[in-house]
Amino acid sequence: MEVKCKHCRKDLFNKLSIQLLTSHGEVKRNNKDMGCGINDPECCSYMSMEKLPEWIEHAITQESWTKGRLHCPNCNNRIGSFNFVNELKCNCSQFITPPIRLTNSKVDISFDSK
Ligand SMILES: [Zn+2]
Ligand SMILES: [Zn+2]
Repeated sequence: MEVKCKHCRKDLFNKLSIQLLTSHGEVKRNNKDMGCGINDPECCSYMSMEKLPEWIEHAITQESWTKGRLHCPNCNNRIGSFNFVNELKCNCSQFITPPIRLTNSKVDISFDSK
């Protein structure tokens, strides 16, 4: 899959095989995969903690694993945020969302079609 910055069109993960999660922590397989279903539009995709790209790890380490914003490593546009301090709940309030999120309106996510 490919995740591009909408602003500068650069591939954010350089073909690194990353996984995006829904707000329920499930692996996203297409853009319609959302934790709470399509009636509840979600604004974010979440990063799996297993394979974090270096620039995200760097941003988090700089804030000592608390919370902060994620910016595109190329154009510095804000594309998401992370929060290891508070547990944020999903809209349905039954699930706690993963700590690193990408704002869907700031990135272009294309899934491999299988
Ligand atoms: Zn960018
Ligand atoms: Zn939910």
